[in-house]
Amino acid sequence: MRFAWNVADNMSDYLMPTYARLPVTFVRGQGAWLEDEQGGRYLDALSGIAVCGLGHAHPRVAAAVGAQAETLVHTSNLYRIPIQETLGQRLCELSGMQRVFFANSGAEANEAALKLARLHGHRRGIATPRVVVMEQAFHGRTLMTLSATGNAKAQAGFEPLVEGFVRAPYNDLDAVAALAGTHDDIVAVMVEPVQGEGGIRIPDPGYLAGLRELCDKHGWLLICDEIQSGMARTGRWLASDHDAARPDVVTLAKALGNGVPIGACMARGEAAEVLGPGSHGSTFGGNPLACAAAGAVLDIIVGDQLATRAATLGEYMQQQLRAALGEHPRVTNIRGRGLMLAVELDRPCPDLVKLALAEGLLINVTAERVIRLLPPLIITDHEADQIVARLVATIGAWQSRNAEE
Ligand code: PLP
Repeated sequence: MRFAWNVADNMSDYLMPTYARLPVTFVRGQGAWLEDEQGGRYLDALSGIAVCGLGHAHPRVAAAVGAQAETLVHTSNLYRIPIQETLGQRLCELSGMQRVFFANSGAEANEAALKLARLHGHRRGIATPRVVVMEQAFHGRTLMTLSATGNAKAQAGFEPLVEGFVRAPYNDLDAVAALAGTHDDIVAVMVEPVQGEGGIRIPDPGYLAGLRELCDKHGWLLICDEIQSGMARTGRWLASDHDAARPDVVTLAKALGNGVPIGACMARGEAAEVLGPGSHGSTFGGNPLACAAAGAVLDIIVGDQLATRAATLGEYMQQQLRAALGEHPRVTNIRGRGLMLAVELDRPCPDLVKLALAEGLLINVTAERVIRLLPPLIITDHEADQIVARLVATIGAWQSRNAEE
């Protein structure tokens, strides 16, 4: 154990306690490392939940943000913003899309996608447009995206939820096909190409392509929520690229600004022509500061070929994890796509996060028993080895602690 804390609860009385925060305060970061107030160093295998894909304080992102802050931060979308237009073009070209709406978060990008789907339905004469969403999905915390989310715990207490969704099990094409027979008001299918919060659930090959076929057959839009899986994390620019399934609508956020808030809802074809003046908007969305950060992020991901790097490193880390933990009695599964990695245990393990912190490792546990690793795409091979070694030590500490109880 590298670190120990006396402070059991570091909550401020002035913050609404929506998060059970860990007892650590970071004061600076560099690459894959964060430093706390006492100078303790932590290896970040979570990247602020898939946000800091380029690590902390990336010098080129910092320079772009600094230069833009000294020039122009915000004007509003009442005026043309050339840096937003350039970013829009680059994002669309990378993603096979035609138009983009810029927002400030993942939930907002998804909110735009869902509003777009509804408007598209109304234009086709469907009075109660419905979107197919998946069990265990996570799409955000606004009321509409929470309603799309497949997590009863997150929804509890916020009823009445927004209507207009119908749910299918993830990775089950027959279930989605069957919905076409029972509902004539479906306008879209919304899906995470890899479910993140749901436990790094990777669908079978052909699942997304199958959804694409169903959407084509029934005239539905395919909306891919790539907020966690996009931006090269899975070894391709978009995770949906693994299945050659080109969506009609793609949402991005998280890693797009490497920590500067920005979200994007992109569309192509008919879907790109749905939102017009007055139909949607955002005061901050795509402001010059956020676009400068995102432009630098794109330069680095493309220029440094980080998708290829994520694919190679992801394979390597899976091999290392299998070699170290494959035979562990508590480990039931090790899986991943690029640098979206999971080690699943045979029982709930929320206490593992704090034990990892004591080992100087930042991880997360999702879906109760899935250790989620989302390291920055810029980590070195040696840092990848250190993540595995620290995780093995953490699981060892967790096992002996649970054996004692
Ligand atoms: N969609 C997915 C797949 C996510 O993983 C998340 C966040 O975890 C969101 C949407 C919501 O993004 P935000 O927290 O930026 O609103």
